[in-house]
Amino acid sequence: MDLEEASRLRQRAARLIAERAGVERELMGRDALLRGYLLERPKFCGKAGCKCTRGEPHPPSLYLGRLECGTVRQLFLRAGDHPRARREAVAYKQFREALRRWRAIGKELNGLWEALGDAREESYPFE
Ligand SMILES: [Zn+2]
Repeated sequence: MDLEEASRLRQRAARLIAERAGVERELMGRDALLRGYLLERPKFCGKAGCKCTRGEPHPPSLYLGRLECGTVRQLFLRAGDHPRARREAVAYKQFREALRRWRAIGKELNGLWEALGDAREESYPFE
């Protein structure tokens, strides 16, 4: 039995378990999630004399990009929907990142338990 190694592995596992608990609280959230990513496009109406022709652009147009059946679709977002769409798209991104982290932690813990099992292995005959 390798006491030092076992202790190091336990400490690492305890940190990961604590981190995972935080990630799980995030995943359990109640905010609506808008799948996709936001695309901003500068808007130039091009009308003669408009401020946008003098380098003062209109508020950008906003699109929601989504992968559907293997192709990217871009949905135009109405100006009135922008604040909510931004909020929910950010929440979606955070959710996906939390899920990725949760899976990575699980994978690392899986390896840690194996290593801890090795470190705790007794030799025989007993010394
Ligand atoms: Zn214009």
